[in-house]
Amino acid sequence: MRIDVLGVGFDNVTMAEAVAEGQRLLNTEGVHYVATPNPEIIELCREDPEALSVVNGAALVLPDGIGVIKGAAMLGTPLKEKTPGIEFAERLVGKLAEEGKSLYLLGAKPGVAEEAGTRLAARYPGLRIAGTHDGYFKEDAPVVEGIRRSGADCVFVCLGAPKQELWMAKNGEATGARLLCGLGGSLDVFAGRVERAPEFWSRHGLEWFYRLCKEPRRLGRMMKLPLFLVHVRTERRRRK
Ligand code: UDP
Repeated sequence: MRIDVLGVGFDNVTMAEAVAEGQRLLNTEGVHYVATPNPEIIELCREDPEALSVVNGAALVLPDGIGVIKGAAMLGTPLKEKTPGIEFAERLVGKLAEEGKSLYLLGAKPGVAEEAGTRLAARYPGLRIAGTHDGYFKEDAPVVEGIRRSGADCVFVCLGAPKQELWMAKNGEATGARLLCGLGGSLDVFAGRVERAPEFWSRHGLEWFYRLCKEPRRLGRMMKLPLFLVHVRTERRRRK
């Protein structure tokens, strides 16, 4: 059963369990997709029923950061641990490499996905990069066709939320891949264009603060976090 945080249902899994589930889905008939919402995306889903429906429609919904973990705990339904999309992705890449499976990278500015692919392939011997495409295209059809022809087993879809979730729900099946993962800005990190917070910050639940200092333009978006906490408090009172 999923744990409800303001309408978004989260799978209550550890990182190891999340990766094992991703691996199982990769080897299961049909198409499946993974979503990794943070408080900002939960707030967005509260205002957009279509976004909510595609996020909840994912086969695996993982709490991307400390905000969701705090929210779930405040509601009296704690989640086991945070499972950041970027970490999930990195571990899944390790499994893909072990199994000799192929990965397609979709999203980010021109050149970024390609660079991410080169770096990942160097770090994970055995990994097959099926192909790459930037995230600034007008028509879905040629991109979907490119993925289908590449024969990719897994696709990282990094178009930002909720664009990537809508894209996966609409086009996932036609890509022919087994597993698609919506991973926001992960390709920028894999390509070495954006730095992840050092462990000290993430261990103390302050990765968001580090990111804010590095990219002050995120402030507007991050103002959703206090709003999220207000909504969680209201929901807690309502549940009592
Ligand atoms: N992006 C894209 N196509 C678009 C809009 C965004 O490929 O039409 C990419 C953008 O270049 C960035 C990622 O999507 O690489 C979103 O990053 P952001 O930091 O907003 O995502 P987060 O990690 O916060 O979810």
